[in-house]
Amino acid sequence: MNKRIRQNHNIFYLLFATVLLAGCTGGISDLETDGATPPNLPDLTQQVQSDTKDSSTNEVKSNDILDVEVDEDDESLNAYIMVHLEPNDAQTISSQWKLLEELVDLSGEYNIKLTLSFTPQWAQYILDNNEALLQLNSWEEEGYEVAVHHHGVSHVTWDGYTNAMPFKKRTDYKGDMNDLMSLVQSISTKQVLSGSMTDEDTDWPAGLLYRSYGNPKNKLQNLLSTPTKYIYNGQEVLELTKSAYMTGKPVDVKLSDIENAINSADIENEILGIALSDDSFSLSLIEGDIKELFELLDSYNVEVRSLSEILSE
Ligand SMILES: [Zn+2]
Repeated sequence: MNKRIRQNHNIFYLLFATVLLAGCTGGISDLETDGATPPNLPDLTQQVQSDTKDSSTNEVKSNDILDVEVDEDDESLNAYIMVHLEPNDAQTISSQWKLLEELVDLSGEYNIKLTLSFTPQWAQYILDNNEALLQLNSWEEEGYEVAVHHHGVSHVTWDGYTNAMPFKKRTDYKGDMNDLMSLVQSISTKQVLSGSMTDEDTDWPAGLLYRSYGNPKNKLQNLLSTPTKYIYNGQEVLELTKSAYMTGKPVDVKLSDIENAINSADIENEILGIALSDDSFSLSLIEGDIKELFELLDSYNVEVRSLSEILSE
């Protein structure tokens, strides 16, 4: 369609809209109340806006609109929420899986993209349950991330995987870190790039680029961090910190601590990091304290994306 014909169309739409609006007093509020919109009105808006950008006299105005939009993006604090999916038995994981579905559904209402950090026990459960695998893969398509979670031999609940030679003779040894990685990789349609784990000096796997770490001694400081490079087990790793929320452990920070961190953040450089754990999951927790967290983040326009998406920028 050439420009002249398009302009003629615009004149027609403007006349039509003028007649429509003049002919029915209270027409606009009626439209808003019942939600019905005549098919011509959205077209009219789009057409006028795109022609405004074309016109040289209005160029400054349209640039102003663009500038405002860019500024709004810059004002958002970036954040990630990592969900630790702990090394439990299959029966426990089966009931926790349903609660994870509730959590992901709720996060979707706030456009929050969680980073799901799976122990090999969780990966095995998902591999054994095709519906769970399909569900997980559809979450990945929406921007949720599959990450690795590992409890090494120094952890009170070792997950059975390690590179440390002396432990390979134990009856509860299940495999080395290559075995763990291939298990978690097999539930993801993408390359697994992020992880959280203990015993990083012996166990950090090749190819894992991003680490989320929470130091229990610095729980308040851990809420905000800038990406920092470390070498673990010979691998260069980019790291952000995080603090636990509602896991039922002394390392937890309060909602007011998170709000203080949001208010004090250097939004150009710092990233907010929060950890949840399925060990404390219940429906009342998800619909209560975790929903309050999501509402807080939403009220401050905090942008919650996956760890690898933030760190790959
Ligand atoms: Zn854990």
